[in-house]
Amino acid sequence: MFPYPSGTGLHVGHWRGYVLSDVVSRYKVLQGYQVLHPMGWDAFGLPAENFAIKNNIHPSIATANNIANVKRQLHEISAIYDWDREVDTTDPNYYKWTQWIFVQMFKHGLAYEKEMPLNWCPSCKCVLANEEATNGTCERCGATVTKKNLRQWMLKITAYADRLLEDLKTLDWSEKVKKMQSDWIGKSYGAEVDFKVVGSDEKITVYTTRPDTLHGCTFMVLAPEYKDIPALTTPECKEAVEKYCFEASTKSSVDRMTNKEKNWCIHRFLLRKPC
Ligand SMILES: [Zn+2]
Repeated sequence: MFPYPSGTGLHVGHWRGYVLSDVVSRYKVLQGYQVLHPMGWDAFGLPAENFAIKNNIHPSIATANNIANVKRQLHEISAIYDWDREVDTTDPNYYKWTQWIFVQMFKHGLAYEKEMPLNWCPSCKCVLANEEATNGTCERCGATVTKKNLRQWMLKITAYADRLLEDLKTLDWSEKVKKMQSDWIGKSYGAEVDFKVVGSDEKITVYTTRPDTLHGCTFMVLAPEYKDIPALTTPECKEAVEKYCFEASTKSSVDRMTNKEKNWCIHRFLLRKPC
């Protein structure tokens, strides 16, 4: 795993991780092997942005400075990395390929936009990562964090569910790990059922794996994030419902997004701008 050059240098915890491959590489070199042992920088994203914001330096300058310093430290440690193979995710020669991959996915209908709830700071007017929104408040300004539906780029990995499950069988992994993988792929068989709303043209569509149990339905609970809540709320309940929805938006976790939808939200990597 390549380091995030987000601080001013390596700390001992970094090297604790890297020393292992350094030892194995030295051992293999001494045995006469040609060893591919590269180093690189996972240099886009939140940690780099936050460092730049905190120190009031443009992220491209801060990132280049941090990389230079970490490299100096690695030279002092005498790590045997092959610097001809250095990878830097902020290098246009590198990210032109991640962009190319994205375009291929887009052309094949595998990248699409969808509205998803994200942590939102109404004061900073920006999206926050879960770790920036701990205890329901914004790490930067202390304002109460809410959920906001924003258009996100999603990758349709569900299109590969069958193949992923099939190929999982061929892997020589422990059953426990395989089970975790297949749970994560999360394929399920079911049906979408429309429930008509009394006295309205609205309908509520639900997904169920057990349509045979539908006849036992006696009431329905809607999630506070459900898109048609305003249209379904009666005037006399409007205030109470809005209050509940707002309070829920400051509590629930955005984690569900990735777990439930089984798609990767790549907004953070492609679209996020510092506020
Ligand atoms: Zn804020």
